[in-house]
Amino acid sequence: MEAQNASDDHWSDHWARLDAFLQTDPRDAGCDEAMEMLDVYAELLAAGNDPSERFPGVHAHFLACDPCAQDLAGLLSALRGPAPSRPDSP
Ligand SMILES: [Zn+2]
Repeated sequence: MEAQNASDDHWSDHWARLDAFLQTDPRDAGCDEAMEMLDVYAELLAAGNDPSERFPGVHAHFLACDPCAQDLAGLLSALRGPAPSRPDSP
């Protein structure tokens, strides 16, 4: 075993961050716009619509930004009610 493993870990973390940065969708609307559209976006989702076509930039942001995605998930579960284990299905 070589002692270089530790520095490999350091660099792989570094590259993972760089990778995530490079993979950011160019359409990404950013946190401000995502928060502005959060209510509308969640209501469309809760109503069974697909807001990603109407708001591709916001959709891209929710895919890329964990904090905003969690805000969306929280609002969505609030809109949908307290029974996530048994969603309405045909
Ligand atoms: Zn965000």
